[in-house]
Amino acid sequence: MLSNLAVRDIETLVHPYTNLATHREVGPLVLESGKGVYVYDTAGKEYIEGMAGLWCTSLGYSNQELIETATEQMKKLPFTHIFGGRSHDPAIELAEKLKEIAPVPISKVFYGASGSDANDTQVKIVWYMNNALGRPQKKKIISRLKGYHGVTVASASLTGLPNNHIDFDLPLPGIMHTSCPHHYRFAEPGESEQDFSSRLAAELEDMILREGPDTVAAFIAEPVMGAGGAILPPEGYFEKINAILAKYDILFISDEVITGFGRTGNMFGTTTYGMKADTISLAKQITSAYFPLSAVMLSEQVYDVLVDQSRKIGVFGHGNTYAGHPVGCAIAVKTLEIYQREKIVEHVRKVSPTFVKRLEKLGEHPLVGEARGVGLIGGVELVKDKQTKAPFEAKKGVGAKSVVFAQEEGLITRAMGDRVAFCPPLIITEAEIEEMFNRYERALNKTLNWAKAEGLL
Ligand code: PMP
Repeated sequence: MLSNLAVRDIETLVHPYTNLATHREVGPLVLESGKGVYVYDTAGKEYIEGMAGLWCTSLGYSNQELIETATEQMKKLPFTHIFGGRSHDPAIELAEKLKEIAPVPISKVFYGASGSDANDTQVKIVWYMNNALGRPQKKKIISRLKGYHGVTVASASLTGLPNNHIDFDLPLPGIMHTSCPHHYRFAEPGESEQDFSSRLAAELEDMILREGPDTVAAFIAEPVMGAGGAILPPEGYFEKINAILAKYDILFISDEVITGFGRTGNMFGTTTYGMKADTISLAKQITSAYFPLSAVMLSEQVYDVLVDQSRKIGVFGHGNTYAGHPVGCAIAVKTLEIYQREKIVEHVRKVSPTFVKRLEKLGEHPLVGEARGVGLIGGVELVKDKQTKAPFEAKKGVGAKSVVFAQEEGLITRAMGDRVAFCPPLIITEAEIEEMFNRYERALNKTLNWAKAEGLL
């Protein structure tokens, strides 16, 4: 029986990333409140938010300091923009703080409101810069299959997932995808992680040579692939990619929308994996998701080109209304202060061994083919046959079923096909991590019984 709210939802909303046909039958999960790492639905049922919302609520659901900061800023100046050289204190202070903690030398910060528009900005700046530098042919951007970079026309083109392209007439020309660095799924039998990484780097080099190095402007990658299935890079991968990009003068864009601010056990995933990034996209945990805000970190070299262009042609014609929103910037400044004061990176490092150990233990379950994590992010892949790694038929929705069972057990997590991700708020305690995995283990056992009953095994 659907609740009144559920019926009203079905009659009024088109949900992002939802099977809109199925939604009409099953209705929404309606959440009402949150505290710490827990959220509560309208019936009062408690869930551990095992996905930190959408990989974003790093400080959990009841941070009073963030709420007070937002309230104070709302009272003082709820909005002002930063177009035409206008500014405000929180925007400046946040940019200073970001420069201080950046994992690579950066010169300036450009604000947006979402991860998607941050990556759109990256694409536009790459194009704009290469026109300015008199090399208009150097425009192509290489991304990776299963990479996730957003949903706007350019960032959805960067995304390497079929559902983001099919029938949307994407990707745009000039945006191409190289192989996904998922060792478990795509390595040859017996191929080591290092050998797999070498093969992928060689493949990238072949693509660059085939296209013509003079036409390839940039490469974009997430340190850990998120929406592609919580996929960790294989050993040696970024080291080898760095070398190829340097060889052909190709800009490296690190998409830290998920991994920024402690997720992998360093302030940035770029550091964890030694990525020689030129520019970085940030969003999500920048405000602990208490306000939509994104930022692009730009190098001195890029900034100088932009200033030169303004000397020649005038206004830098890019930016949106809510870029550098004062409430978002004030919350972000406070969020960064809390990360530092509460030593969030140290906390992640302290609890991560428990997270990784419990995650890897799921690998012993008959349904789990791979279980890997770093810091406080990781995933499991459910398979029909552990020996051969044979997957279930996609349309049986085994991963999604385990997520439904997890929900019954009081855990919110997310299936991307038959890969299920774990990415809890960074403030999670060891006891809460144990409880999260206890709940998922029960869900997996239910999934196993269901799969047997359905004749899937
Ligand atoms: N990049 C990455 C790595 C992401 O995970 C996401 C969102 N999940 C985006 C970009 C897009 O961000 P948004 O949904 O805020 O547009």
